[in-house]
Amino acid sequence: MDILWILWTIPAVIAVEETLMDSTTATAELGWTVYPVSGTSDNSWEEVSGYDENMNTIRTYQVCNVFDSNQNNWVRTKYIRRRGAQRIHVEMKFSVRDCSSIPNVPGSCKETFNLYYYESDSDTANRNSPPWMENPWIKVDTIAADESFSQVDLGGRVMKINTEVRSFGPVSKNGFYLAFQDYGGCMSLIAVRVFYRKCPRIITNGALFQETLSGAESTSLVAARGVCIPNAEEVDVPIKLYCNGDGEWMVPIGRCMCKAGYEAVENGTVCRACPSGFFKSTQGDQLCLQCPINSRTTSEGAINCVCRNGYYRTDSDPLQMPCTTVPSAPQAVISSVNETSVMLEWMSPRDSGGREDVVYNIICKSCGGGRGGCTRCGDNVQFLPRQLGLTESRVYISDLLAHTQYTFEVQAVNGVSDQSPYSPQYASVNITTNQAAPSTVSIMHQVSRSVDSITLSWSQPDQPNGVILDYELQYYEKDLSEHNASTVRSQTNTVVIRGLKPGSIYVFQVRARTVAGFGRYSGKLYFQTMTEEEYNTSIQEKLPLIIGSAAAGLVFLIALVVIIIVCNRRRGFDRHDSEYTDKLQHYTSGHMTPGMKIYIDPFTYEDPNEAVREFAKEIDISCVKIEQVIGAGEFGEVCSGNLKLPGKREMFVAIKTLKSGYTEKQRRDFLSEASIMGQFDHPNVIHLEGVVTKSSPVMIITEFMENGSLDTFLRQNDGQFTVIQLVGMLRGIASGMKYLADMNYVHRDLAARNILVNSNLVCKVSDFGLSRFLEDDTSDPTYTSALGGKIPIRWTAPEAIQYRKFTSASDVWSYGIVMWEVMSYGERPYWDMTNQDVINAIEQDYRLPPPMDCPSALHQLMLDCWQKDRNNRPKFSQIVNNLDKMIRNPNTLKAMTPLSSGVHLPLLDRSIPDFSTFSSVDEWLDAIKMGQYKDNFANSDFSTFDVVSQMTMDDILRVGVTLAGHQKKILNSIQMMRAQMNQIQSVEV
Ligand code: AMP
Repeated sequence: MDILWILWTIPAVIAVEETLMDSTTATAELGWTVYPVSGTSDNSWEEVSGYDENMNTIRTYQVCNVFDSNQNNWVRTKYIRRRGAQRIHVEMKFSVRDCSSIPNVPGSCKETFNLYYYESDSDTANRNSPPWMENPWIKVDTIAADESFSQVDLGGRVMKINTEVRSFGPVSKNGFYLAFQDYGGCMSLIAVRVFYRKCPRIITNGALFQETLSGAESTSLVAARGVCIPNAEEVDVPIKLYCNGDGEWMVPIGRCMCKAGYEAVENGTVCRACPSGFFKSTQGDQLCLQCPINSRTTSEGAINCVCRNGYYRTDSDPLQMPCTTVPSAPQAVISSVNETSVMLEWMSPRDSGGREDVVYNIICKSCGGGRGGCTRCGDNVQFLPRQLGLTESRVYISDLLAHTQYTFEVQAVNGVSDQSPYSPQYASVNITTNQAAPSTVSIMHQVSRSVDSITLSWSQPDQPNGVILDYELQYYEKDLSEHNASTVRSQTNTVVIRGLKPGSIYVFQVRARTVAGFGRYSGKLYFQTMTEEEYNTSIQEKLPLIIGSAAAGLVFLIALVVIIIVCNRRRGFDRHDSEYTDKLQHYTSGHMTPGMKIYIDPFTYEDPNEAVREFAKEIDISCVKIEQVIGAGEFGEVCSGNLKLPGKREMFVAIKTLKSGYTEKQRRDFLSEASIMGQFDHPNVIHLEGVVTKSSPVMIITEFMENGSLDTFLRQNDGQFTVIQLVGMLRGIASGMKYLADMNYVHRDLAARNILVNSNLVCKVSDFGLSRFLEDDTSDPTYTSALGGKIPIRWTAPEAIQYRKFTSASDVWSYGIVMWEVMSYGERPYWDMTNQDVINAIEQDYRLPPPMDCPSALHQLMLDCWQKDRNNRPKFSQIVNNLDKMIRNPNTLKAMTPLSSGVHLPLLDRSIPDFSTFSSVDEWLDAIKMGQYKDNFANSDFSTFDVVSQMTMDDILRVGVTLAGHQKKILNSIQMMRAQMNQIQSVEV
C-alpha cells in the first residue's frame, strides 16, 4: 500500500536540553574523587577556585605534571542520575598549555586528556572502585584543545578556553560517573555540564505533539503521534513527527485540518467556529465564507447556509451560489390557429427566479365538449418540438379536434420548481379550432365481388372533423395509370362498383368530405374481380339450393348459364395469375404488414348480418346434437354436443345459444362474436365451426375445449404442473395474442377466465363478445362502469382505464396479469383489494409480486408487461420469443425471486400468509388452501406450529399428502413459517 508522505515545514523550535549536572552551579567544593590521592604521589588533579570568562567564581580542576613521565591522573565526578535519558551529552570547557611553550619540557608532555564513563545502578563507587582503568571504564573520546595557550597570564586570568561536547549512549542503568584522565599535560577543566536532549511540546500542522526524549543514538528517530487540536481532523493518514538525536522534530507525516464549519486562526493553532452568517462546507485550510444571497445560518459553526423561505437550491447548485426561486409566469402568450393546429408563442417570465434553467411545459385541456368543464387532452395531440421541457418560447400543436375549444397552459419551470409547494406559474390561452378536412380512412375491405363488380366498405375516418357529407372513391385498373381513374360518390361507407373487367386487379382509394372539403385519399388497396371460372364454381356450389327452390329457378339457371357463356366469350376472359393473387383483399395502407390479413369490425357493416354471412358458415340444425349444459354465457346456456357435417367426421363441439325472447340488438350482439371469431384461424385462438341462424335457438358452434376455462382449471389443479408446463400454456396464449395483434385486433378482455383449455393442455384465446363492455349491463362486478363502457379494472392497463386507450400494448398489460394468474394457479389478481385501491397502487408504481415458486425470469417478463409507458412494453412477438427461449433453456427458469426482493416495489406478497396471524394449524391449512389435509395433520399429531415448523418432506408424505404440487405448497409454507419464526425470535432478542 502506498503511504502518503506529506511534508510540511515545521516552525524552528529550539531543542530542549535537560541538564543532569553542571559544575559551574556548585556553590561549595565539587569534591570529585581524585586518583592518585593528592599528596601520596606527584600532584594529581586538584580542585582550584577560578573565574570563568565573565569573571564569575567557578570551581575547576587543574593538573600540570609535564616534567614527570608516566602520568596517569584521574578525576571522577559524583554519581549522576540518568533520569530517563538514553543518550548523554557532556560539554567540557577547558584550557591546555602548549607543550612547546614550556622551556625544557620532555617529550612526554601531552596536550590532550581522555573522557570516560561508568554506568551503575547506585552510587557505590569509592576510592578504589571502580578501578582506575579503561574497562571497566568506557572511553568516550580523547579530547584535544582547539587552542592552547603559551603563557598562563595569572595576573589578568586571561585564558583561552576550549569548549568541546561529546555524547555517548545508549545508557540504561540508573546513573553513571564521568572520569577525566590526564597522562602528562598541563590543563585546567573549567566547567563540565552533563545533559540530555528532548524534542519540545509543539503544535504544528494542526496537531499537538507532547515533549519526546530523543533516542539512544545520534542518528535515531523517535516517532511521536500527534493529536489533532480541537475541531480539526486528520487528513488521510495519522499525523506523526520524528524526534531526532539532537532533540529536533523532523519528517512530519499527515496533518490535521479544521473540519467543516471551523477555520484555522492564531497561526494554525486553533480551529474556530464560523461566526453566524458565515459557513465553511468542507474540511481544509480555507476560511469561512459569507452566506450567499437569500440564505442564512442557524447557528455558529455552520457547514452551509440554508435558503430563506421560498428560496431553494438544487442538488447540483454549489453552496456558494445564491438560493433561487421559481420563475414567474410566461408573459404575453399569443396563439395563431390554423384549422386544427395552433402555434403558441410567448415571452420569458419577468422573473426567472435567479436561475438560467427555465423551461416551459404545455398543458392541453379540451373544453366544452358538451359535458361542461375541461378535460386533459388525449395523447393523440402532437406537440412540436415537444410538450414538456421546451427551451424555446414557442410550440406547434397539431391534431386537435375541429371546432373545439381548448385551453393551453404555458407553465414556466426551472430547476427548483419541484421543491416549491406552489404549482408552477403559468399563463393560459383559450382557442377554438377551425373546421378541418376529415382525416384519412384507414381501413377498407371487400364485402363481396363478382365478375364485374366489387362491393367495398370502409370505416369512418378517426377524426371526421365535422359531419361527413359523402365519400369519394377513386379506382383504376392496376396496370393503367392513375390518370385513367374513375370516381364514384357514396353517402354511406359502402359502395358497389360495377362495370369492371373480370379477373382484373383494381386499385382503390377513398376520401371523406365535410363542409371543410375533402380529406386526403387513403392508401392504395388492391382488389380483384372474380374470374369466370371462380364465378362458375361459386354458382355450382349454390346450385342445389337454387334447384331445390322452384321450377322457375331452373329456367333462371339455364338463362344464367347462357349469359355466363356469352359473357365469357365476349370479354375474351384473361385468366392470368398475377403476383398479387395470394396477397389480394384486405390490404391496407399505413402501418400494417403487407400481405397480412386484418380484422374487420363487424359493426363497420351497415348490416351486421352481412358480416355474419361473410365470416361464419351457416350450419343446418339437423347436423347438431346438443348433449348437456356446461355453463352459462352472456346470452344463454353453453352446451356440449356433437356436430356432424356432411362428408366430415362427427366432432365434439361447444354450442352457445341465444335464449328466446331476444331483441334484434341482442341477436346482433350475440352473433357479432361469431363474425369476429370466424375471421381468425390460429391454433391458439378458439375455432368457429359455424352458426345456426335460420332456426331457433340461434347458436354459435365452436370446437370443444375439454378442460373449460383456464382460471377454474388452474384452481382445480393447484400445484399440479411443472414450470415448463405452465410456461407452455403461457406460450400458447402469447402466440394466439400475437396472431390477433398482427390482425390488428385488440381483445380488451384478456384474462384467464377467457382462455379455454383442451385435453392436451392447449390454451386458446376466446371470448370475442363485445356486449359486456356495454354500459347497461351491471350484473358482473368484474367489469366496472367507466365513461363509455365497462372495464375489467384488475386486468386493464392504466391508459385504457383512464382514457380508453385500448391497443395491443394494453392487451400486453392484461397478458402480464394472465401470466400472474397462471403462475399462481388462478389466484385473484390483487387479492381482495378494492378496484380503487388497485388503481391507486398501480399509479404509485406498485406491481404484483412474484407468485410462489415463480421463476424470476417470468416475473421480470410480467413487470415488463406492466411498464407504465405502453411503448416500453414488449410486443407479443417478443413475448413468444422470450418464452420459447425459456422453454429451450429450462435452466433460466431455475432462479427464483427472493421473498424479500424489492423489485419495482411489489405489493405485499400475500400468497403465503403470515402464520402468526392464525390461532391454529387448521386455520393455517385453510389459508394456504390445503384445508383438505386438516384431519391428516391432526391424526398424526401435527397440531402445533412448533411441530409443524419442524416437518420434513418425509413427514408430509407420512401424513398422507401424496400430490407433488400439494407437498411442495405445504413445504414452502413451512419454510416460510420457519423464516417468520426466526424473524420473530431475532426481534425478541
Ligand atoms: P362464455 O360465454 O364464452 O364466457 O362461456 C361460458 C362458459 O362456457 C365458459 O366459462 C366455459 O366454461 C364454457 N365454454 C365456453 N366455450 C367453451 C368451449 N369451446 N369448450 C368448452 N367450454 C366452453
